Amino acid sequence: MFEKILIANRGEIALRILRACRELGIKTVAAHSEADRELKHVFLADESVCIGPAPSSDSYLHVPAIISAAEITDSVAIHPGYGFLSENADFAERVESSGFTFIGPRPDNIRLMGDKVSAIRSMQAAGIPCVPGSDGPLNDNKKRTLDLARKIGYPVIIKASGGGGGRGMRVVHAEAALLSAVSLTRAEAQSAFGNNMVYMEKYLENPRHIEFQVLADEHGNAIYLGERDCSMQRRHQKVLEEAPAPGITHKQRAKMGQLCTDACISIGYRGAGTFEFLYDGGEFYFIEMNTRVQVEHPITEMITGVDIVKEQIRIAAGEQLRYSQSDINLHGHAIECRLNAEDPRTFMPCPGTITQFHMPGGPGIRVDSHLYNGYKVPPYYDSMIGKLIAYGEDRLSAIARMSNALRETIIEGIKTNIPLHQDIMADANFRAGGANIHYLETKLGLK
Ligand code: ADP
Repeated sequence: MFEKILIANRGEIALRILRACRELGIKTVAAHSEADRELKHVFLADESVCIGPAPSSDSYLHVPAIISAAEITDSVAIHPGYGFLSENADFAERVESSGFTFIGPRPDNIRLMGDKVSAIRSMQAAGIPCVPGSDGPLNDNKKRTLDLARKIGYPVIIKASGGGGGRGMRVVHAEAALLSAVSLTRAEAQSAFGNNMVYMEKYLENPRHIEFQVLADEHGNAIYLGERDCSMQRRHQKVLEEAPAPGITHKQRAKMGQLCTDACISIGYRGAGTFEFLYDGGEFYFIEMNTRVQVEHPITEMITGVDIVKEQIRIAAGEQLRYSQSDINLHGHAIECRLNAEDPRTFMPCPGTITQFHMPGGPGIRVDSHLYNGYKVPPYYDSMIGKLIAYGEDRLSAIARMSNALRETIIEGIKTNIPLHQDIMADANFRAGGANIHYLETKLGLK
């Protein structure tokens, strides 16, 4: 096992990684920016190194600073968390060529999946169902683009191959708007992702977002840990997640899970990963694969009992998976609410000093958060300040526990989206289960 791991991230996920390391008896180094000296995991880590000024381009995205921090602290492995450099194949390569272990997939797998066009191609080859679409990038041939959209049928969605975080997508409802939408998305993709490749998919009108968690080792073993429903979204970004997905049968889960693990084995995948699908009319359609630990991993941990972060570390250390598929049984239901420092109505970020913080508790409640009394939420990064996770023997008891936990949570000094989550927990359609990806925006009057 590794002696010392450098944590190249911040906030709740850095703390989550630190906790996993502690359990495994691994020393930790917190690599943090100048604005993050007061982060909870920085205080708890065995060592800490400042890697640069507040802007992430000068710190959490600054590869030479992170590699030097690993060198001067004698770290042997680097955990990238999610976001920042976690899905950057060049970074993973630099980590390995500098003599450290990257806690994640092989760089060629990150590269393959980081480009959505190549990801879709390789998944089609592995027998995974994909959204009907352009089967590759769109070129400059206008007639071909128009013919393609007519063949797929409107509405269609134009997506950036290098896109992420819900950006770089444009829905087109009629032919008159198609060509300008393609060039606009292309231009945006070039400036946001440095890659102007775009492709076309059928726009599924009322799907749910359902994703499968996998773990694979470098010895050719792979397992799936069931699925999560992440349909509660705003601007294509997840607001809350639950596992298992309401209404998905054991048979559907086994079929899709098997397809995902077979795909992992066929591409030689290593580590934790997520296959994201849209689910419409009883069918699954692959949209992308995430090659890292996800924000919503705790709900899968709650219903399977598997510690995904510890398994990631063990896999990176070259160990064999300790579970076979028959060891994985789903129990109960779990929900995660993402807590953001933002106005619950306007969604404007609301950084500032936490003047009061009281955590909720009770059976089945888990809090993954770096907050503490007096902590100052900086304005430079994502507004997520933690996650509230509720587990119950069934969906309604998980909802009841989450409602209690939201009521008990006290965060003063900044605005948070707790009122929004309370609203969702009380919503009849959410309580019925199975709402689609547009439900939340429609409910909020944003559509
Ligand atoms: P990102 O990498 O930015 O998260 P995804 O490809 O995972 O992008 O898509 C994010 C969300 O965008 C999905 O969960 C869904 O809400 C919406 N979306 C993406 N593709 C389609 C599609 N073909 N039809 C309908 N909605 C889509």
